[in-house]
Amino acid sequence: MPDSVTADPVNNLPGQSWLAQDANARRATLTRIVVRISREALQGEGLQAMLQGICACIVAELPVAIASVILLNEENTHFVKEVYAGEMTLSPLAATGEWPVGRGGAGRCARTGRAQLIPDVDDDPDYVLGNSYVRSEYLVPIRHGQRLHGVLNLESNRTDFFDAESCAVFDAVSYLVAAAIHFARMADELRLANRKLERISMSDGLTGIANRRCFDERLQADWARQAARNESLALLLVDADAFKLLNDASGHLYGDECLRELARVCEGFAESDHDLVARFGGEELVLVLPGRSLAQASDVAERLRAAVEAVAMPHPDSPVSAHVTISIGVSALVPNATQPPETLVAMADRALYSAKLQGRNRVQVYVPGR
Ligand code: GH3
Ligand code: MG
Ligand code: MG
Repeated sequence: MPDSVTADPVNNLPGQSWLAQDANARRATLTRIVVRISREALQGEGLQAMLQGICACIVAELPVAIASVILLNEENTHFVKEVYAGEMTLSPLAATGEWPVGRGGAGRCARTGRAQLIPDVDDDPDYVLGNSYVRSEYLVPIRHGQRLHGVLNLESNRTDFFDAESCAVFDAVSYLVAAAIHFARMADELRLANRKLERISMSDGLTGIANRRCFDERLQADWARQAARNESLALLLVDADAFKLLNDASGHLYGDECLRELARVCEGFAESDHDLVARFGGEELVLVLPGRSLAQASDVAERLRAAVEAVAMPHPDSPVSAHVTISIGVSALVPNATQPPETLVAMADRALYSAKLQGRNRVQVYVPGR
């Protein structure tokens, strides 16, 4: 095993072992490194750890004092992240968090899209100090198809290391790194797209709140959880009064607007992440309130009813009021895992029916047998 690369900054130990090798042994070392890096690039867990592993492997085995992968932003105007191994005094990214491609050998590599060999850093005005012992640098673009992801940066304490053979190996490494970055980014994009799809499939297109599918899933889960905890689960079934007459009198678009406003008001009554407000269907919304008793849920329902009335959305043809009103059926129980969760919905539905019968714009709790 090679010793620490910091043991001898001028002729670090891996470099010395490299010097001690004949041409065949060096070739074998380079081949071994490519194999190791291929495995790392194809099987590594997580982009950061994988890049770190690749840089560490290069620094440990070769007379390379600093190996780093410097990643570009999407516009290719700035380097925004550097992963490195070796003795770097300070990453140029450390101070500002980004580094324009107008600067440094890495910038030149990114701008030209071509590998840059700097045989002696003293002779290159673009060289940005990595550490004071560095003598030469090789920079390779990390490109996958049309996309330039960044630059592979290698700095050696020697002036004779970057020959045609070692440069060819680093060119190959840059392709492996590019492929690994590409697949990691694709995986990220896929995860994001899946999350977006999941959100879309769970939300209602008109109001933006949770949809029926989401409600069904949450009810099932809440029912099981509250049953296991022996705690109450409450449900409010909210139905807009005389909504057909509203559509007939004021048009469906206005009806839609009122539904969106109703959803917004209902959402204001979700007090924690555990509470759910969903569109049950048509002009019916539902609130699922885990942990709330029948009395507590009834109190929430009464405040919600009053809040909707207070918004005073005109309803020119309602038999109940000059404004849009709602009726609410309330149910609550400590779930029994052997019963279906629909029991709770059926109870709230019965209560809602009763609220309608009693004249609308009111809250009715479920009373067994009524
Ligand atoms: P009730 O007080 O008994 O609840 O009377 P209602 O008119 O609200 O009840 P009914 O079930 O007869 O009619 C519901 C109406 O809700 C009919 C339907 O056109 C309307 N509706 C359902 N979904 C939407 C929607 O997305 N947008 C609009 N504008 N109207 C909707
Ligand atoms: Mg209805
Ligand atoms: Mg209605």
